[in-house]
Amino acid sequence: MEYDVVIGLEVHAELKTKTKVFCPCKNEFGGQPNTHCCPVCLGLPGALPTLNKEALKLAIKAGLALGCQINELSVFERKNYFYPDLPKAYQISQMVRPICLGGHLKVGEKEIPINRIHLEEDAGKLIHSSDGSVTMIDYNRGGVPLIELVTEALQEPHLESAEEAVEFLEKLRQVYIFTGVADCEIEKGQMRADVNVSIKPKGSSAFGTKVEMKNIMGFKAVYRAINYEIERQKNILSKGGVIEQETRRWDDNAQESYTMRKKENAQDYRYFPDPDLLAVEVSKTVVDEIRREIPMLPEELKEKYLSLGLSDYEASIIVKDQNLIDFFEKTLKLCSNAKAISNWLLGEISSLSKDDNMIKISPDDMAKIINLMDDGKLNRSVAKTIFTKAWNENVDVEALAKTLGGNLSETELEEMIVSIIEKNPKAVSDYQNGAEPEKLLKWFVGQVMKESRGKANAVKAEEILKEKLK
Ligand SMILES: [Zn+2]
Repeated sequence: MEYDVVIGLEVHAELKTKTKVFCPCKNEFGGQPNTHCCPVCLGLPGALPTLNKEALKLAIKAGLALGCQINELSVFERKNYFYPDLPKAYQISQMVRPICLGGHLKVGEKEIPINRIHLEEDAGKLIHSSDGSVTMIDYNRGGVPLIELVTEALQEPHLESAEEAVEFLEKLRQVYIFTGVADCEIEKGQMRADVNVSIKPKGSSAFGTKVEMKNIMGFKAVYRAINYEIERQKNILSKGGVIEQETRRWDDNAQESYTMRKKENAQDYRYFPDPDLLAVEVSKTVVDEIRREIPMLPEELKEKYLSLGLSDYEASIIVKDQNLIDFFEKTLKLCSNAKAISNWLLGEISSLSKDDNMIKISPDDMAKIINLMDDGKLNRSVAKTIFTKAWNENVDVEALAKTLGGNLSETELEEMIVSIIEKNPKAVSDYQNGAEPEKLLKWFVGQVMKESRGKANAVKAEEILKEKLK
């Protein structure tokens, strides 16, 4: 039997705010345990939450970047569950009226629909001693603002493979980083995914039973967990078994999952509006203000780079890395040869910055080198020498081009120029009477570089040419 796979994602990302979502404690990774805490995030009796405006703004920004509608009125609710990472025994979240609804994210050629994005608070962190005898709790993370994005798996198109799910996560991470909504550092747990998987006989319209795996850290683990779950379900069905609705825990070290709890529905959490928090009203003006702050997103940037003549491969690599984008954009302001910038960026620069991810040449110097080459004043090998110098120390690129360019003697160069001038009387008279002497001068320099096979010093050649052409 062949099966269709349906995958849904719930992705949590910690927002990049200075303080927590309902209290003034620091939102900062690490720190001594239980030092970023106060009566509000510790859930002490009588302490009252106040919404952090910046968290709300970032949640709206994430929604706008993903094409969501922003609810003019949204409501915070209590999601009740008893677990030591949550001292209040409820999490402040949103259920009926989340901040953002709808939206989509492109995966391959598919526009994967988004159901919602809501704002909530993170829980504390449990740390189990290695012998399993003690569990410690660090509430520094409790109350850190989170946005949870839920994909719409019951509509077409939806995610159908582990590859697509990982691409979705990678693109989502890029959008969050681009817009400055979240840093999404996976190792710090700043982005975590719950994955649900169901399978159904190929072509069937009825959906299969969902199995959820919670809090998977890292995209590779998501990939492995999904493939494991697909195989597990196929196996059960092929033996005539029934898939049970359950939450399983993925153990990435053991490469397998095991049952955590059976059947769990939204009503088990007894959501109800939090009486300590007012409903949130967001005006159109505020939404428009936030919309204006959203930069060009990866997909749009890629389109732009393709239109500048970069290949699909080059554009895709650059838009994946904020460092590369910054360098490319800054250099492009000083030099119009996008293709050359991309060649240097993905060639020399990438290989030299491989280890420390530091680009040690300024966009200004890079632009100068490319412009000198395009003017025929530098050949490739001298350009590389100058590039290497500029990478390692502070240099004056233009001065270096003058001293380093070419290894013909001045006499040889002069002889060559005289012969080129003699061979091109028409160009000479055009230069002397013409409207575009600069353009012709460049052409002459080009001829010298061609005839000398790049060995001439183009800067010197230009000086001599000007003299002789008079
Ligand atoms: Zn606090």
